[in-house]
Amino acid sequence: MSPRLEDLPLRDDLRGMSPYGAPQARVPVALNVNENTHPVPKEVADDILDAVALALRDVNRYPDREFTQLREAFAEYLGHGLTREQLWAANGSNEVLQQVLQAFAGPGRTVFGFAPTYSMYPLLARGIGSRWVAGERGVDFTLDADSAAAQVAEAHPDVVLLCSPNNPTGTPMPIDVIERVYESTDGIVVVDEAYWEFAPRDERSALTLLPGRERLVVSRTMSKAFAFAGARVGYLAADPTVADALRLVRLPYHLSALTQAAAVAALAHAPTMLATVDDIVAQRDRISATLEALGYKPFESWTNFVLFGGVEDPAATWQGLYERGVLVRDVGLPRTLRVSAGTEEETSAFLDALASIDSAS
Ligand SMILES: *Cc1c(COP(=O)(O)O)cnc(C)c1O
Repeated sequence: MSPRLEDLPLRDDLRGMSPYGAPQARVPVALNVNENTHPVPKEVADDILDAVALALRDVNRYPDREFTQLREAFAEYLGHGLTREQLWAANGSNEVLQQVLQAFAGPGRTVFGFAPTYSMYPLLARGIGSRWVAGERGVDFTLDADSAAAQVAEAHPDVVLLCSPNNPTGTPMPIDVIERVYESTDGIVVVDEAYWEFAPRDERSALTLLPGRERLVVSRTMSKAFAFAGARVGYLAADPTVADALRLVRLPYHLSALTQAAAVAALAHAPTMLATVDDIVAQRDRISATLEALGYKPFESWTNFVLFGGVEDPAATWQGLYERGVLVRDVGLPRTLRVSAGTEEETSAFLDALASIDSAS
């Protein structure tokens, strides 16, 4: 018989913790983890295959530890005058964030974020022995600059994680909140822009704040807009010195040659890879409008998902949707559920299933 977890000499600070665990059930319509449900376009997939095949010829050798080509490709994609020295990447932005915390937080230090926010932040913080401190949001999960700055100043964190726009609520984060939070701390301020491509086009990314702010880090991912979640590629832009700090904690050759080749090939087709964003945004807005007509309370979203309130019994509605072949997410906020915008067909399936349940309160 294998031992129970409690019987192993596990770190004291990990006892009682639960792992990240979004269900991976096989259902016809999976709208629970904010993936881009559109597949990679065929012409791009063909180029990625060629690039990976080429990389395989040298797979007996360790890959470019500095993933130079990939950093150049990210700099070009992001624009804003960024150079490859300011770029860094890892296996998903979760690993990017973990490396930032390993370098700038760590045992005995403090990581701060405004709850409710991305469920991985506390797990990443505790996983490296840091204390997680949760700040508060205002009405409808919004944040104003005065309150945000005061809360950060009081907490004296070593790292602040700002999710912009926020998961699981979809809430936009005004740029002055980021400016004021930066001024109110000596710590590292990470702006997680995992969903930025779904925000209104004329809004200002935190990338525009980078010049002159050497403690500011903007992280992005290929998992959402780029439909590349399975490839595991996340990245950040910051002062080149931040990358020097991350070199102290990353594992050698952490990005495989195959990952680097696949990501570079995909980025060469950025406009094609991002062609589904407009459609997803249209489906998101259709979800919000229809939910409202059904009597629910959708929250404003700049992402590819919608959190909606007014759900009398979230567990029962979740189950009812599941039985109709639709997987959504119960993020544990009272009377809410979260749904990702899918293809037009998937979105219709969700809306039809929900209408047939009638659980608005
Ligand atoms: C999905 C998501 C990520 C991306 O994680 P990857 O490791 O890049 O797949 C990062 N931050 C937030 C807030 C997310 O929702």
